[in-house]
Amino acid sequence: MGRRKSKRKPPPKRKNIQSLEKQFNCPFCNHERSCDVILDKLRKVGRIICRVCQESYQTTIISLSEPVDVYNDWIDACEETN
Ligand SMILES: [Zn+2]
Repeated sequence: MGRRKSKRKPPPKRKNIQSLEKQFNCPFCNHERSCDVILDKLRKVGRIICRVCQESYQTTIISLSEPVDVYNDWIDACEETN
């Protein structure tokens, strides 16, 4: 009878670091990295909201859209309203 191997191999840790920037400076209150982007790819909606001043913006996205695209749309929209 052989000894049962009790070698516990932890699963290799996969680095799941997202290099894509998801936090942006707020054009309203000028706080750095206070704006979070939420990409709802099912509804094709991208939202960005500032944690500090609660300013938010919503835009249509495509499956290839990235957080920075939502942010750029927001900046564009801000400039248009000015
Ligand atoms: Zn803000």
